[in-house]
Order: sequence, then structure tokens, then C-alpha cells
Amino acid sequence: AKNQGENLYQFYVKENEYPATEHVDLYRKLRKALDNNEFVLVYQPQYDIASKEFIGVEALIRWNHPEKGLISPLQFIPFAEEVGLIVPIGKWVLHEACKQWRLWMDHFGRTFKMSVNLSSRQMYEPDLIELMTQILNETGMDPHYLEIEVTESITMNLDRATMLLSKLKGIGVSISIDDFGTGFSSLAYLKNFPIDRIKIDRTFIKDLSNDISDQNIVKTIIALGINLNLKVIAEGVESEEQLTLLNDYGCHEAQGYFLGLPMSADHIAKLI
Ligand code: C2E
Ligand code: CA
Ligand code: CA
Ligand code: CA
Repeated sequence: AKNQGENLYQFYVKENEYPATEHVDLYRKLRKALDNNEFVLVYQPQYDIASKEFIGVEALIRWNHPEKGLISPLQFIPFAEEVGLIVPIGKWVLHEACKQWRLWMDHFGRTFKMSVNLSSRQMYEPDLIELMTQILNETGMDPHYLEIEVTESITMNLDRATMLLSKLKGIGVSISIDDFGTGFSSLAYLKNFPIDRIKIDRTFIKDLSNDISDQNIVKTIIALGINLNLKVIAEGVESEEQLTLLNDYGCHEAQGYFLGLPMSADHIAKLI
């Protein structure tokens, strides 16, 4: 016990000795942002390509900084993942997204899908399924309309991922593989994971109109999805030409600036 006390003492001395690093600073700011409710969600619409029907939204986080204004998740999510703050932030995101879905549904009497990004780090939370169940109950969100987007990086721990995704399916939530085609994983996981949808990464869509390799990759991903009985959505669709090609290839769904920017909940309400 004495040793522990000494170590603790040393730790505090060290902290005072050295000025706060940028990291310690960002950690505190993010923690405070969470306590002060400075995070907001924007929603990007998704469409069925053939019918042009609005089918759902992806929730995307922003930090509404009191001085700096809206800050992109690219500037704080990777850090939050590194230091574990993604766990409380991710919890907030899930709760907020489900709450919003219920509000829309009560107001418009129409259901559509809500996709929420789940960081691989959150997969290691022992009570993730309980938390999810609790949020679903509390908000009155129908789990069948909730989709969790995970990246191929979850295959780093295949057993854990298989167990977690099966449990998610068990409570009625669906699963999408985000940024499909950019990970270093083997395709074997497609066999074992209870996946509903794959999301073609936008790096393959960016030059789709003139790059033959991208065209072949995208066609192949779509064929793979269709053969495995999965829905296929393309992200980062920025032009009509890209959308037309995707339609020709038989891609089911699309999301991107050409179809709709990430927007506030109020703006989404106008699309419903
Ligand atoms: P992502 O999950 O791949 O999300 C798609 C990103 O592409 C979003 O960036 C979206 O605004 C952007 N985007 C949509 N359409 C287009 C387009 O046509 N062209 C281009 N160039 N970009 C488009 P955003 O909102 O800045 O998010 C960046 C990343 O931050 C996300 O990539 C995701 O990895 C992460 N992220 C965002 N929100 C959350 C969250 O709530 N939780 C977690 N864990 N990660 C999040
Ligand atoms: Ca995503
Ligand atoms: Ca993505
Ligand atoms: Ca991404």
C-alpha cells in the first residue's frame, strides 16, 4: 500500500512538473465538450437508386465548439479512439441518434433506417449489448431500423467480432461494413459475420467515371454483395454520372453530396 501511495505521489508530481501536453489538453477539452453537451449530430440521407426513394440516414458527429464553430470528426474521433473517450462519446451518439429517430417517427409516422458508426474500440466494452438494449428501450427506437456501421478493422479480433455482431443481430439491429474494400482483412469474415449491407468506400467512387480499374472493382464488389445476398450502398457519390454507372452495375443504394449533404435534423424533416 505504501508503494502505491508513492507511485501515485510521483504521478502527480510529474503532472505538475511538466506543462500540459497538447494531448492532455485535448483530452480535457473533449471531456468538457461531452459534459457541456457541445457535440451535435448531422444526418446524411441515403437513397434507393432504382426507385430514388429516401431510405434512411447516416448519423455523423460534429463538435460545436463555443469559439471555433463546427469541428470535423476527423479532427477528434481518431484521438478519442486512441485515448478511449470514444466509449462515452459513442454512447452519446447512439442515444442521440435513437432519440432523434423516435422524434421523426412520432412526428411523421414514417420509418426509415438510422445508421450509426461504431468504433472498433467500442466492441471491447463488456456491456455494449446491455447499453444498446437500454438505449433502445429508453428512446423507443425500433431496433429493426437501427444499423451499426463497422469497418473491416473489427476483424482484428474475429472471435470477439463474430460474437458481438451475432448478439447485435439477436436484438434486431442490422450491420453494415463501412469503407468496404479498404481494410487489410480477408473476405472470409463475410461468411461468418451476420452482415446485412456493405458500403463501397468512396475512394473507389471518386474517379469512377474515367478509371477503368475503379469501374471493375466497383462492379465486382456489387456482384459479390448480390451473390452473398447483401445490400450494397455506394458512398461519396458526387455526380449524376457516378450515380448512372452505379445504377447500370446494379448497385442498390447510394449516399453522397450529389444526393444530399450531411444536414441538421430539421433539414432531414423536410425530406421525410
Ligand atoms: P465515414 O463513416 O466514412 O463517413 C462518411 C464521410 O464522408 C463523412 O465525413 C461524410 O460527410 C463524408 N461524405 C459524404 N458524402 C460525401 C461526398 O459525396 N464526397 C466526399 N468527399 N465526402 C462525403 P465526416 O462527417 O467528416 O466523418 C468522417 C469520419 O469520421 C467518418 O467517416 C467516420 O469514420 C467518423 N465519424 C463520424 N461520426 C462518427 C461517430 O458518430 N462515431 C464514430 N465512431 N465515428 C464517426
Ligand atoms: Ca460510416
Ligand atoms: Ca465510410
Ligand atoms: Ca471512412
